[in-house]
Amino acid sequence: MLYEGKIYRPPSEAKSIILQITVGCQHNACTFCTMYKDKSFRIKSRAEIEDIIATTVAQDSDAERIFLADGDAIAVDTLLLIEILDQLYAKLPRLKRVGIYGGPKDILAKSSKELADLKAHGLTMVYLGVESGNEEILASVCKGVTAEQMIAAGQKVKASGLILSCTIIIGLGGKVLSHEHALATARVISSIDPHYLGALTLMVEPLAPLTKAIERGTFQLLTPFEALTEIRTLLEQLRVTHCVFRSNHASNYLPLRATLPDDRDELLKSLDNVIENHAIEQLRPEGWRGL
Ligand code: SF4
Repeated sequence: MLYEGKIYRPPSEAKSIILQITVGCQHNACTFCTMYKDKSFRIKSRAEIEDIIATTVAQDSDAERIFLADGDAIAVDTLLLIEILDQLYAKLPRLKRVGIYGGPKDILAKSSKELADLKAHGLTMVYLGVESGNEEILASVCKGVTAEQMIAAGQKVKASGLILSCTIIIGLGGKVLSHEHALATARVISSIDPHYLGALTLMVEPLAPLTKAIERGTFQLLTPFEALTEIRTLLEQLRVTHCVFRSNHASNYLPLRATLPDDRDELLKSLDNVIENHAIEQLRPEGWRGL
């Protein structure tokens, strides 16, 4: 079977062929996430993976981009990942890039040499869900790592020469921790200094554990303008050397694009304009948001 269950991929992998070499997410505990709650994590067998690669090659021998799914495919043993990469580049002559989701614990479980070997064999981009830099928030959403471990994981990917794309979630601290979330997340992202940064705005599915806290009233979602204020604080505090920032995911109220730090002043000015003028007409309507 090529795909088991619903398949997720980062927005920037929209043109990639998805190769599902693992099923689900090894961690699978984050309270805001329902993506893989119906799947038990497993790494597909060598025979299954060979079958998937053969089918992919037969269907699109001109493929230029591959994304290795599911949620934490970097958990696959490094030697098997290298075999997969070698097969892909040997059989797809136009292949230019291979991306993968990397959970922080599984990145830290690999040595720096293993990551560098993966890069040498053609792994191109690692997507790391940072979500928040605030310890209290990371613990309360059961992310499974501390802020310092998250920084170590991100820095390790970068040091190996791989391209690193981080994701953060606006609103993950709710109303109570909104400001702390912005400041701490800016600190962690600045320490990692990723090549790409994507912002999502928190949306929770009915079956997400966090939904219960919302229903009990112990967690409050941000209003659109509170979310914009939070993102403004975060961007103002961010110190990166060269980072492509996007908030073009459908969950966001306002799509933003910038290269930081060069475009920061202009970006803050346009955010201020929307916030101060309460320009609701510029925002994505609630009903159009999606995960
Ligand atoms: S957010 Fe990422 S790490 Fe957490 S459960 Fe979902 S897929 Fe797994």
